Amino acid sequence: MWDDLEDHLDLSLDFDEPPIPTPATPPATQPRSFPTCIPPPIPEPLPTPPAPDQAAGTETAPISETLTIPQHSHYPDIVNALHRVFKLKNFRPKQLPAVSAAMEGKDVFVLFPTGSGKSLTFQLPAVCLVGVHIVVSPLMSLMHDQVAALRRLGVQVEQLSSSLSESERSRVKALLWSRNDKDLPRLLYVTPEQLQMSGELKSILQRLSERKRLIRFVIDEAHCITDWGRRFRDSYSHLSQLRKEFPNIPITALTATATPEVESDIITRLGLRDCVRLKLSFNRRNLDYEVRTQRCTADLVAQYIKENHPGKCGIVYCNSRDRCEEVAKALRDKHGLRSRHYHAMMDPGDKSRIQDEFFRGVVHVIVATVAFGMGIDKPDVRFVVHYSLPSTLAGYYQETGRAGRDGEPAACVLFYSYPDYQQRISQIRKEEKDWEEKRWQEEDVNAVQRYCINNVRCRRQQVLAFFEEDFDPGNCGQLCDNCRVVAPGEEVDHTANAIAVLDAAEDAKRQGKSLTRVQLKDVLRGSNNKNIREKGFDQLQGYGSFKKLSQSAVERLIDELHIIGVLDNDIQIRGDYPQNYVKV
Ligand code: ADP
Ligand code: MG
Ligand code: ZN
Repeated sequence: MWDDLEDHLDLSLDFDEPPIPTPATPPATQPRSFPTCIPPPIPEPLPTPPAPDQAAGTETAPISETLTIPQHSHYPDIVNALHRVFKLKNFRPKQLPAVSAAMEGKDVFVLFPTGSGKSLTFQLPAVCLVGVHIVVSPLMSLMHDQVAALRRLGVQVEQLSSSLSESERSRVKALLWSRNDKDLPRLLYVTPEQLQMSGELKSILQRLSERKRLIRFVIDEAHCITDWGRRFRDSYSHLSQLRKEFPNIPITALTATATPEVESDIITRLGLRDCVRLKLSFNRRNLDYEVRTQRCTADLVAQYIKENHPGKCGIVYCNSRDRCEEVAKALRDKHGLRSRHYHAMMDPGDKSRIQDEFFRGVVHVIVATVAFGMGIDKPDVRFVVHYSLPSTLAGYYQETGRAGRDGEPAACVLFYSYPDYQQRISQIRKEEKDWEEKRWQEEDVNAVQRYCINNVRCRRQQVLAFFEEDFDPGNCGQLCDNCRVVAPGEEVDHTANAIAVLDAAEDAKRQGKSLTRVQLKDVLRGSNNKNIREKGFDQLQGYGSFKKLSQSAVERLIDELHIIGVLDNDIQIRGDYPQNYVKV
């Protein structure tokens, strides 16, 4: 069977490890078999090895993943649908294993960067299988775009959202109640709110499930289910019920948010079992990263744009609405750039008009808060400037990821200044939130700050390490400010200090204790903090050994050990939340 497949497909492109003929342990739930609907395959040759598409995240990550073998019987259907329905020539990396796992009825977790083609991993199985895929999508605009695109391809697809008229809604529900397979849409897009609130929809799903016509739940932008990183969305949290209410219906979760905490939280909350995890490297080869240690002004932004990207399109991120308006105005009135502001408090009509003008290239520069992001799929964004400090490294990665979707060179410039950082921290401290939440936010901003002031390590290596990806700086191609530095600074030998860090971490392990990064730092600096004393951390080896080093130096040391892979994340679920501990 493998020989047949290998004739048509370069497996090495899609699989990191050689396939294993039979799984070592049987899955907890038997994969279901589905009625398929695609006509017999056309006798045209099967695709040649997929040529890696360079748009985004196409290197394979050195991340372990569970593999399944594509079922031979599904392969012709899949390829046929790829060509005939989606009009695509080849799969992009890891799309085929994701599709195959779905065809086998497995739970699937897809972690690909934005723009790398996550949708196909559930849309293609939906086309091949008779019955309904329920796709939960958080943004109405994303939903409309996908539904429209599928309709253009002739796929039967419906949606239920609050924007539908009553008669439209009745029409869709009537189709879903139909006993005739021909009436059933292949995909039903719903907002999480609809799924949570509509009693009738629940009954429909029960009925479909009884008739074996409920094929799969797909949770797009699945990071919305986690409140880790405060991306919480209430109705998304109810999705945890799906597994309980429909224990036999497989689930696909898709996201481009890659921190290990988020991944583990999504999997736990959705109750995914033996899920096939597919990941792509998050490295974006065509993006150039740079940090400028300088307080940002509209004049600096204007100068940067004029010198580096005249007449080109880009995004400037600011952290306040007022700032967006002010900077956009200055760029426009003082510097003659075609710029507009964008933030959450704007009228929806204005927002979509500005998005549209940016998309068509009428507006060149959008000065926005992070509200401008999800669902923006403009291919030729040539620069992303961070006027203000991003709140998290994950957010920074997402925001810069909007540049260069077409695969052409694009630049990401972050302006960092210590006063800006301080202001951010005091803002967090003033907010009315519980102290734990504030502490996480501070930790996130501190991580961004450490990224900014680390002027030695390759920027890619730093960001990707944050996502648990091991990146060889030799592959950066001098596309970051740190790799371009010709005269490196003075070297200091920190071996003894590094050993002290490891001693403390290992001593904790011997005593059956787990330390977070912050606790490890506190231990090393000999903190007198109540939390440290109560847990007996002040008895650990190495306690207080860095009394003379500054806080940032200790943090930097821990970061470095993490980046080079000596320290690793150890995610443990404590209570309801995943906690990130250090392990050696
Ligand atoms: P994501 O959800 O990962 O951000 P999408 O699923 O929206 O990405 O896909 C991004 C773009 O890539 C879409 O325009 C889609 O048509 C295109 N695409 C997806 N798969 C392929 C493929 N195998 N070959 C060519 N283009 C593809
Ligand atoms: Mg998507
Ligand atoms: Zn680099």
